[in-house]
Amino acid sequence: MHLSVYPPMGRVRVAAPARLDEDTIRRAIIQRLPWIRRERNRLQNANRQSKRQMVSGESHYVWGKRYRLDVSRHSGNPKVVLSGDILWLYSPEGSTPEDRFGILDRWYRRELKAVLPALVEKWESVMGVKANRVTVKRMKTKWGSCNPDSRNIWINPELAKKNPRSLEYLVVHELAHLVERSHNSRFVGVMDRHLPDWPTRRDELNGAPLAAEEWSE
Ligand SMILES: [Zn+2]
Repeated sequence: MHLSVYPPMGRVRVAAPARLDEDTIRRAIIQRLPWIRRERNRLQNANRQSKRQMVSGESHYVWGKRYRLDVSRHSGNPKVVLSGDILWLYSPEGSTPEDRFGILDRWYRRELKAVLPALVEKWESVMGVKANRVTVKRMKTKWGSCNPDSRNIWINPELAKKNPRSLEYLVVHELAHLVERSHNSRFVGVMDRHLPDWPTRRDELNGAPLAAEEWSE
């Protein structure tokens, strides 16, 4: 078995031989919980340390592209504008890093909300499913989430920083839960049929594993 903890949110991935049953796998994961917790703490500390000051010159990502932040003071409403490779952030005189973070965060949400409905609609019709509601919501450890009973789907606004391919993967993944609630072979079959390159997209989204450990069952 192979267990990995991925940045930025400490997502845990387990690779196990097909011959192992779920109980064996569950027991093995429970045994490794202290290690998983340690790695997740380490990741979260690293995230805190890289917390942005929201000042000119910092790099920020929008849809997978890197921009240089340029903070401008102005008296009107706060706004964010992309121009060339510059991310202009217009903020009121005397704004704090938290204020500027809030301005950018709301802008990321709007960016995501602008593209989400069309993307969801497209994949609903391709996959023959219908979500009840798709909401942009910040989650600490998840990119997205689906409740197959209420048919509600939540998408993390952090996805507006990633390549649009990642958002598309997430949308297909969450819609696939309307067909199959667990990540079993039927679920994988749905993903394979509709988005054959989904493993690549998933790995792009989660980056290289920061921590990985191998042990035998
Ligand atoms: Zn899932």
